[in-house]
Amino acid sequence: MKIMSGKLIQVALVLIMVLILFPIFVKAEDHHHHKSPHAHTFTPLEEEDFFQSTFKYLSSKANFPITTWNECRDRTIEGNYIGYRCSRKRTISKVLFSYLKTHFISCVREAAFANGDTDIKDISIEHKGIFADSRHSPDSLHGQGRAIDIKSISYKLSFFRKVTMNHESDGHGAFYTTLRECWGEKIKRNNNCPLFEDDPYLTGSIGKDDEDHQIHMHLSVPVCSNSEYLEPYKRR
Ligand SMILES: [Zn+2]
Repeated sequence: MKIMSGKLIQVALVLIMVLILFPIFVKAEDHHHHKSPHAHTFTPLEEEDFFQSTFKYLSSKANFPITTWNECRDRTIEGNYIGYRCSRKRTISKVLFSYLKTHFISCVREAAFANGDTDIKDISIEHKGIFADSRHSPDSLHGQGRAIDIKSISYKLSFFRKVTMNHESDGHGAFYTTLRECWGEKIKRNNNCPLFEDDPYLTGSIGKDDEDHQIHMHLSVPVCSNSEYLEPYKRR
């Protein structure tokens, strides 16, 4: 009887161990399989560290001019990293910054019009970073400051009404569809790029068309010349 209960206790202990360890093991596997290129995005501090060390080396090779965006106080467009306050010195390529201030703004106006909203003001972006890629790959447009991961876009109407369009919930709707088609046409016309897969919706942006971009929309200014995408950079 004593031996039996000793064995039972042993079996019970093994069972308990399996029950405890199994979910941890499954979770680890699950995480591994679903790790996307954007699985870890930089916090503003990490981004600054990256810029000070690795990126300065990479940018010296790539030679795309870099500037800083005062997200907190900008006449045309403001922003903040999701979950953080705005940064007064967000590093960004000059070309993406100038596109945000001109073509992006006019595309947001067009997209808001698809919502029935005219006379919009105070456009702001909630984003997941610009130099925001754990791969640190020099050919990723993030590694060149030429891409931004957008979580939501907000604008104000008169009488203090604020509209926020989240990519996760509104990505399939008229607002983001209009915005992406408009952006693709701007990229083609102003940046000398061909349309990606003959589709302005897929040009210079990745969103609901890709399983890894359901929550945020990746918006980029690709590297093109003579209506061709230049190697080794990503095409969008
Ligand atoms: Zn991205």
